[in-house]
Amino acid sequence: MCSVMKGIPLTKDFANGGVSFWYRQIGLPARRPALPGPRDYDVAIVGGGYTGLWTAYYLKRAEPGLRIAILEKEFAGFGASGRNGGWLSAEFAGSRKRHARARGRQAMIDLQRAMFRSVNEVIEVARAEGIDADVHKGGLIHVATNPAQRRRLRAGVADLRAWGYGVDDVRLMERDEARERLQVAGALEASYSPHCARIQPAKLAVGLAGVVEQLGVDIFEDTTVTEILPRGAAGPSGQNDHGGRGGKAAAVTTRGVVTADYVIRATEGFTASLAGQHRQWLPMNSSMIVTEPLPPDVWKHIGWHGSELLEDEAHAYVYAQRTADDRIAIGGRGVPYRYGSRTDHRGATQAQTVALLWRMLVKLFPAAADARIAHAWCGVLGVPRDWCSTVHLDHASGLGWAGGYVGSGVTTANLAGRTLRDLVLARDTALTSLPWVGRQVRQWEPEPLRWTGVQLIYTLFRAADRHENERGTTTSAYAHLANLISGR
Ligand SMILES: Cc1cc2nc3c(=O)[nH]c(=O)nc-3n(C[C@H](O)[C@H](O)[C@H](O)COP(=O)(O)OP(=O)(O)OC[C@H]3O[C@@H](n4cnc5c(N)ncnc54)[C@H](O)[C@@H]3O)c2cc1C
Repeated sequence: MCSVMKGIPLTKDFANGGVSFWYRQIGLPARRPALPGPRDYDVAIVGGGYTGLWTAYYLKRAEPGLRIAILEKEFAGFGASGRNGGWLSAEFAGSRKRHARARGRQAMIDLQRAMFRSVNEVIEVARAEGIDADVHKGGLIHVATNPAQRRRLRAGVADLRAWGYGVDDVRLMERDEARERLQVAGALEASYSPHCARIQPAKLAVGLAGVVEQLGVDIFEDTTVTEILPRGAAGPSGQNDHGGRGGKAAAVTTRGVVTADYVIRATEGFTASLAGQHRQWLPMNSSMIVTEPLPPDVWKHIGWHGSELLEDEAHAYVYAQRTADDRIAIGGRGVPYRYGSRTDHRGATQAQTVALLWRMLVKLFPAAADARIAHAWCGVLGVPRDWCSTVHLDHASGLGWAGGYVGSGVTTANLAGRTLRDLVLARDTALTSLPWVGRQVRQWEPEPLRWTGVQLIYTLFRAADRHENERGTTTSAYAHLANLISGR
């Protein structure tokens, strides 16, 4: 075993990668056939994660006659959708002020309300479609473990209040209530929001893929899209095959070209691998570990009977869930970014990240110090240059996309799916006028600036966390600098 892992209790069959623990629980799904050759569809969706699946689901429910294909390079649910922390939360990526500057304050409040409803929408659709994804709506707890974090927590709740959150949407918890719900070591204060549910992510992805397929959507797996072409553009080899494609948009795959009236890009953290998209969304890493099931005497110390989702207020924060089978799954940034926008190999994460997450687990829950770690994994999420999610459809080119959810994609992907449905069907609805629709975001810097910038941001965040843990009562200047550089 490598030296950084020494002292970490591991189960005999500890595994790293293999996509994620969530698939170890349910088994990797059988592969669907690849694209058999060139095809034509009304809508082609690139990527079979939540964004692609929800878009296909809502389009097919609205217009059952639509011919829809999902083109997926591995299997539906291979990406972040099958690896995440299982927070079905109403948190939305991006600066509220930025959205409000563009479309007004009320538009941002409407967007937040739409996110609240989206949490329930996912729960209701899963129930109606018979998808058992271990869903439990226990809410969300943010915990502060030092005075600087406490200040941020209070300011954060006050800020949300100013953005229309009522006391039923978020509130600071009384110390007794916080302790009764969840014993986090060193907790000074906590906030609670009911707008969050725990899910088993892979169960949702696999279940949704099955439903979508039954509705008549063709899902082609082991089918890598290399390039997406707008209507009327030159073909993959540069020649103008406008006539050959009948003026349609296209997804060029390793197994033939798929033409379609609309091609939707739903590749989030993997977007940089598509031709021409290299600097679009930065693939940010997030890593997780999960314990073995904890015995009742450990839970007696920890509480957590409501299975609330948990996050601390650190700059390099950690997030956690109590799983349906009584484990703790905890995640955090780890090594934030791989040079040149590379992605992980099937979810394997670095030993130092496993060690870091284990130390955080034990710090927050000393009662779990002897719990053995059963699995570690990682994945990528998409980060736009301004850290704000977007959804877009351009009728002229036939191209659309959604993503850049910055780690808040589980619920947002559902909102994206319903919004893309309305955009494709040219319906002018409350969803299509939300402020994240149609935003244009500048690209990331070329390497080595991109890599250097992300390293610097997370070095500063970690320095800020150390400083705040040791002696800070206010947010560290390092964090202010990191936020300035990041352009959030
Ligand atoms: C470890 C981790 C923890 C997270 N925790 C949470 C959380 O608790 N709550 C939350 O809200 N968000 C969380 N996120 C983020 C969230 O999971 C994602 O934002 C969301 O799943 C994105 O869904 P998606 O469908 O857009 O992308 P993905 O699920 O990544 O799907 C993209 C799909 O596209 C496929 N693909 C990629 N390139 C190509 C290509 N060239 N051709 C064809 N197919 C391609 C991939 O194989 C993949 O299946 C987490 C992310 C990670 C990595």
